[in-house]
Amino acid sequence: MSLKKEIERYSNLNGYPTTSYEELNCDCGSKEFRLYSDDDEGGAFGICVTCNSEYDIENSREYIEEALNNVCNCDSELLSLAVGKAFYPESNESRWVYVGAHCGKCGLDGVYVDWKQSA
Ligand SMILES: [Zn+2]
Ligand SMILES: [Zn+2]
Repeated sequence: MSLKKEIERYSNLNGYPTTSYEELNCDCGSKEFRLYSDDDEGGAFGICVTCNSEYDIENSREYIEEALNNVCNCDSELLSLAVGKAFYPESNESRWVYVGAHCGKCGLDGVYVDWKQSA
């Protein structure tokens, strides 16, 4: 199972399948982040483990009221992140955003937060 497959599986179950997939890479070359998200409001951001740069995922940072630090089932908080998106028919407007993470320590792939984009 890859993270891409896991996001696809999750989004299919959700009824809005992803047609785009993008991994988050920091400018410093690192691929490991701490993930913060708000499942109620719908938003997430990642902070690079190496250089502490912050990455606002799909401009959702402003919607976050209570940022939860996401950790893997194995307690590791160092995650590689990827964003999958579903779009409105014949549009570039994203409809649903899925934030997935892969744990380098135990190998678990999962969708940690997803939200509907307000049009
Ligand atoms: Zn970095
Ligand atoms: Zn893990």
